[in-house]
Amino acid sequence: MKSSYEIAQAQFDKAAQKLHIPDWIRDSIREPERNLSVDFPVRMDNGEVKLFKGYRVQHNNTRGPYKGGIRFSPKVGLDEVRALASWMTWKTAVVDIPFGGAKGGVICDPSKLSKTELERLTRRFTYELSSIIGPDMDIPAPDVNTNAQVMAWMVDTYSMGNHKVDFAVVTGKPLFLGGSQGREEATGRGVTIVTMEALKELKLEPKKMSAVVQGYGNVGSFASKTLAEEGVKVVGISDATAAIYDAKGLDLNDIDKYLKKNKVLFGYSKAQTIEPKEKLLEQPCDILVPAAIENQITKENAPNIKAKLIVEGANGPTTPEADEILNQKGVLIIPDILANAGGVTVSYYEWVQNLQREQWEYDCIIAKLKKKLVKAYGEVSQMSRVEKVDMRTAAYMIAIRRVADATEARGIFP
Ligand code: GLU
Repeated sequence: MKSSYEIAQAQFDKAAQKLHIPDWIRDSIREPERNLSVDFPVRMDNGEVKLFKGYRVQHNNTRGPYKGGIRFSPKVGLDEVRALASWMTWKTAVVDIPFGGAKGGVICDPSKLSKTELERLTRRFTYELSSIIGPDMDIPAPDVNTNAQVMAWMVDTYSMGNHKVDFAVVTGKPLFLGGSQGREEATGRGVTIVTMEALKELKLEPKKMSAVVQGYGNVGSFASKTLAEEGVKVVGISDATAAIYDAKGLDLNDIDKYLKKNKVLFGYSKAQTIEPKEKLLEQPCDILVPAAIENQITKENAPNIKAKLIVEGANGPTTPEADEILNQKGVLIIPDILANAGGVTVSYYEWVQNLQREQWEYDCIIAKLKKKLVKAYGEVSQMSRVEKVDMRTAAYMIAIRRVADATEARGIFP
């Protein structure tokens, strides 16, 4: 199987070849501008010292400061971070917000770290990044296994080092610490906003639709809830421990109560357990939302997928081989760089509020988010019809064009 970065490059090449861009621009925006790798020690609670490895890849800042999340996971690697960083560049470009793309990560298993260990790891990693991040340089945010608390530690570490409080250095912060209304749910809500646009185009009634959501973290849980708000019946969900399915629809409130108590889905008995849990993707449903990690929909399971609409809540969940199979089957795929762009869009609003020392109201932010995503969806859909390409290629074509035009206009320094 191709690596995530090879997949990102292949997606770029497929779209770039349809555009007339000077070779030097195409080659330069294809590659990350900076790959930082750091090794740093952290003192564990028992006094032992452990070494950790982290990365920050800054892919492109032609249209604005680098922007993208930080993930903590044993699966983190430079290749993955490079892919994720480039997807951020195309994501911010396709929804047209004035940012570039970056991503970071630390190889660690946060479930095995205490809160104090996690704090020390976060603070030391922030220190390692402190010369290359900043409100006008590179603005991290939450991603897999990181959250508002981790962002609060980052703000504090960065601010202490600079002897001034600087909320705009990261987004996805707690509400009482420069965070934005609507940010926590933004990625999941964005998934639902674009799903509703697609259903409208397909002339399908949300109330007659069922959905399976893989991954029940920040993205998957809010996608499930907001889809349910629109009348979509959520029939299947999964987390890292289990997958559950009920054709009559799951009781999301009851599941939330269970998760509050048990932390993981494993052991939930009021729905059918799907084993192995990866088979959840193949269960009957109209809408499939992969909202976990990369490379979940592959050439092996793509032929068995029943959904007519796939909305990529995760980054990179579909391999190019699976893409081809699904496109041939007539499945509509709303690509990650559009489908999960709600998070970074509200991150942009958070950053603007921080810079202006303002606090906007929830309704205003959700309205802005909806307008942004509906517009981007319309542009991608139109490009796909005019150019007779799939939605992923159309989204890349729009994004690459924007970054290429900005590169050409800025020219070469010196
Ligand atoms: N981690 C999220 C993403 O992959 C959000 C990034 C951000 O808000 O900067 O889009």
